[in-house]
Amino acid sequence: MLASQYYIRTLREAPAEAEIASHRLLLRGGYIRPVGAGIFSWLPLGLRVLQRVEQVIREEMNVAGAHEVLMPVLHPRELWERSGRWDIFAPTPLRVKDRADREFCLGPTHEEVVTDLVAMDLDSYRDIPATLYQIQVKFRDELRPRGGLIRCKEFIMKDAYSFDRDRDGLDRSYNAMYDAYVRIFERLNLPVVTVEAEAGSIGGTDTREFMLLSENGEDTVYMCDSCDYASNAECATSRAPDAIEPLAESRRELVSTPDTRTVEQVTGLLGVTPDRLVKTLLFRAGDGFIAALVRGDRALNEFKLARFVKGEELRMANDAEVQSLTGARVGFAGPVGLPADVRIIADHEVRAMRDFVTGANQDDAHFVNVNLAADFGVDEWVDLREACHGDTCAQCATGTLQAHRCIELAHVFKLGTKYSSALDATFRDAEGNELPSIMGCYGIGVSRIVAALVEQHHGKSGIMWPREAAPFDATILLLSPDDEELRAIADNLYTQLQDCGLDVLYDERDASPGVKFAEADLIGCPVRVVVGRTTRNEGKVEIRRRADGHEELASLDEAVAAVLRLRESS
Ligand SMILES: [Zn+2]
Repeated sequence: MLASQYYIRTLREAPAEAEIASHRLLLRGGYIRPVGAGIFSWLPLGLRVLQRVEQVIREEMNVAGAHEVLMPVLHPRELWERSGRWDIFAPTPLRVKDRADREFCLGPTHEEVVTDLVAMDLDSYRDIPATLYQIQVKFRDELRPRGGLIRCKEFIMKDAYSFDRDRDGLDRSYNAMYDAYVRIFERLNLPVVTVEAEAGSIGGTDTREFMLLSENGEDTVYMCDSCDYASNAECATSRAPDAIEPLAESRRELVSTPDTRTVEQVTGLLGVTPDRLVKTLLFRAGDGFIAALVRGDRALNEFKLARFVKGEELRMANDAEVQSLTGARVGFAGPVGLPADVRIIADHEVRAMRDFVTGANQDDAHFVNVNLAADFGVDEWVDLREACHGDTCAQCATGTLQAHRCIELAHVFKLGTKYSSALDATFRDAEGNELPSIMGCYGIGVSRIVAALVEQHHGKSGIMWPREAAPFDATILLLSPDDEELRAIADNLYTQLQDCGLDVLYDERDASPGVKFAEADLIGCPVRVVVGRTTRNEGKVEIRRRADGHEELASLDEAVAAVLRLRESS
């Protein structure tokens, strides 16, 4: 591509709204342009990167035996009602109505559409296994889009769905997709870690996320510093201290704690640290109430609580409910003397506590020296607390959990029969029994990968694209475009590199060397070839690998081989 004829629009300064490196550099490099908050257009350079990333994904999907399809963006409400997700999918999908008042959502994910699609033609066990995938625009009603391409309202995903006859088949399909994802990230030079995850609105079990550790990420993972344990924040668990012998006799005392609403206020007044208090959080779960107990310095993990109640509708008890259950204002609830039909569940850590503080279920009062068994019983022990940096690892019991910021790039799930049952994706087995197919689903954030690549591969002066994602494989800078002899050399090199199958950006524009160097660094192609003074004086070209600045001089005969070699190692 001749730079003089290409649409290159770099910026000297990054727009003020761009806070993270990928956002800044993609704007400055002329890769993307904003349309609205969390909505972007792709300029020619950006589209090239996007398409190369898609190509890597497509190749690995095809090798893994998946088949590409293209499903619609517009999903009729009826389909989502059949799966039961129209009202409960979180966050609520963007919805639209046509002129006849029919409702649709803009697909945030395609389980309904793909299951209905497969159901139309699925008849016998001979029709499956099958895995279908697409690369498609997705929509998410994001209230606070941020980080450029990291969190958008509209983005591009590759989503795949597998249909199998049985659990073993699902395991095979899942593993094939998992392995394909590992290869995709290897090819793109993105050192991801895979972590345990929560299925959320999609549903299912056995889910793993592929995370890129990055300071600009908005997710957190916990990794053990001595074994291979890794989990996202929602699922992470840590080792609780050993339980202690419960006390037989009560020694609790009522103390006055006027106007103390928070753990800090109570413990401050009583002169103890927050880990000596047990927090009592009241929830409405289905038709009943739950009191969830965690140590005062811990946060309750609501995903874990939701998992415990297994799909029962769950919300915090409101002020009136708290008043009626405890006889006190909010802030003074405790496990001692709650109505018998309130289920008391407690985090394992509470088992290791003695003589702790709890609310007294009366206004302006707490109990001190409360103990298990002597003062109250627990109906069920559950892992309820959020893991923290520095906790002991539950898997190896010796290592320490470390918190890392990260960007979620992909997610694989075993779905089971939730959608195939609801949307009739059933088949007849060899005996003629009608069975729901067993599904898995597998997503990769394609546009987010572009941002992640820049986060992972950039320097002060610009982007350093890994080979498989770069918009061009190499760039040639002709520093004296008026010099006929140099121009002939550069023209010749351009043709030779193209003949080798490389995409080359040839900067033969009438611009200063300084501008050309700065722009080449900003755009960040893997190899840069300079035809300039050294070429005139010594008959050599300068060849530089963007990733590490490694530079060589090559004769005109050796130049093509050197470019290929340095590109190969990018
Ligand atoms: Zn460990």
